[in-house]
Amino acid sequence: MAVTIKDIYPICTAPEGIPLVIVKVVTSEPGLYGIGCATYTQRWMTVAHAVTNYMKPLLVGKDVTRIEDIWQMSMVSAYWRNGPVLNNAISGVDEALWDIKGKMANMPVYDLLGGKVREAARVYRHADGRTLEEVGDKVQAFMEDGVQVIRIQHGGYGGNAYEQALESMRPDGACTGAYYDPLGYQLSVTKLFDYMRNRFGFNVEFCHDVHEHLDPIESVRLAKELEPYRLFFYEDSLAPEQNEWFEIMRRQTHTPIAMGELFNNPREITPLIANKLIDYIRCHVSQIGGITPAKKLANMAEAFSVRTAWHGPGDTSPVGHAADIHLDVSSWNFGIQEWAGFKQASLDVFPGCPELRKGYVYPNSNPGLGIDIDEELAKKFPCSEKLPQWTNCRRPDGTLNRP
Ligand code: MG
Repeated sequence: MAVTIKDIYPICTAPEGIPLVIVKVVTSEPGLYGIGCATYTQRWMTVAHAVTNYMKPLLVGKDVTRIEDIWQMSMVSAYWRNGPVLNNAISGVDEALWDIKGKMANMPVYDLLGGKVREAARVYRHADGRTLEEVGDKVQAFMEDGVQVIRIQHGGYGGNAYEQALESMRPDGACTGAYYDPLGYQLSVTKLFDYMRNRFGFNVEFCHDVHEHLDPIESVRLAKELEPYRLFFYEDSLAPEQNEWFEIMRRQTHTPIAMGELFNNPREITPLIANKLIDYIRCHVSQIGGITPAKKLANMAEAFSVRTAWHGPGDTSPVGHAADIHLDVSSWNFGIQEWAGFKQASLDVFPGCPELRKGYVYPNSNPGLGIDIDEELAKKFPCSEKLPQWTNCRRPDGTLNRP
């Protein structure tokens, strides 16, 4: 008799203060369940509502083994599709079904995805600071821990270190917000790379995240100016609405390009890969709908020599990180994994978190995703209903910028 879906519910928790949404799929087989990441931290309540009110009624009673059919059905059920809220709700169920299938097969998910092509996923870490020395000291600490690739930022995305200097540039009555100065930011990045290469030479890899702060031509100019510093990659250098500019950027610079954490729709992604306009595709796996579409995307990217660099910040849950690592170790064209790291509270709430050792993250070999959630402990870390502030980012004249 088929094992079927008996219940689906969201678990919202914030062990590190960042709202996370986990979906639990309970089956008709006593004790057999799976969990998946549905974290869209900025709109977590809406995702939780969609899981309870739409995913559950749609899927209760369905055969848990039919992951592909359930994914396709969930995607078209709402008719309008490819938005961040429903993609996350679908991802929560999708990843939970892969977890369940692994438990049924007594195999880790990476084995279901083709098996390991490497033991662990090489990661990049994030070094940020108010001064160049502070960023450099963080780089040095990471290097001493064996980290080989480090993303360097001077004063946050868009260089918030310059915020103080901007007061005098604002018009009277300007809104409050996360102001930044595009010119000051661009000049600061070349200084940052100059300082790092002088201090550390070329025996460490560096990347940088523009976080879509610049106008397209400014971003092209910065990519060219950074060429002598030999970046590992140049991240999210344009907003998704400016995708056509990648063709111009590609013709202008040999700096490797990583793009995609804000993508939700396959049509945002596939032209960049098929036209070889980027080097790394770095979607947020739950934002595109889970392991099922991510594995297909990795396979498609392999055909065009584009590598994966799945988005892995603090607002990817440990369950989402586990899903990323299973993809990483089983995808030949894996490039690098962003790694935010876990604090003790996350390790306690999520037993079985992937482990970082000397610049590599290892999945565990337990069946399924190999990670669980302590639901009682999770309740001790309620999610805040406060709206995010940093996404409202303004230019010196008060104009709202892409975040
Ligand atoms: Mg980024």
